Amino acid sequence: MMNEQEYLNLEVVDLMGKDKIWLEYDQQIEQQLIEEAQNGYPLEITGFLLGKKEVSHRVSELYPVENIASNQERRFEIHGLDYLKVENYALQNDLDVIGVYHSHPDYPAIPSRHDLEYAQEVFSYLIISVDGGGNTLINSWKKEAVPDHSLETKNGKFINQKIKIS
Ligand SMILES: [Zn+2]
Repeated sequence: MMNEQEYLNLEVVDLMGKDKIWLEYDQQIEQQLIEEAQNGYPLEITGFLLGKKEVSHRVSELYPVENIASNQERRFEIHGLDYLKVENYALQNDLDVIGVYHSHPDYPAIPSRHDLEYAQEVFSYLIISVDGGGNTLINSWKKEAVPDHSLETKNGKFINQKIKIS
């Protein structure tokens, strides 16, 4: 694997940016994320983070969905129906849809340009990096609009979001 520096695309990631709201979950959720990424290797897996948006955004449940991208080794794509289903499920169970998780097989936990194009500012984007040896690393990202008229204005940039395991 290349190191993170070699993959870092500064058009996509704002290294100085930090989200004020942190993401929180327990070790069981962390373990579930790791196992899904390992079991899906070498394909990208994906799903939704459900929980409560309070002082922090606390994830209490994962909602895995099918990755419908044609190139699942490098991309993830969620069917529009699954967005409707998860919204419905969250509503019925008094939960908030906090974000989307996906894995990066043999790729660092840094968002790609493709991730940026499809990201929504309301969601957290949690990325689980996984390699063939089963090693994992998790990072969370929030998309933020760029307040100028540069090329990035349309897409914004990702800033890092702190994760608290509790
Ligand atoms: Zn990605």
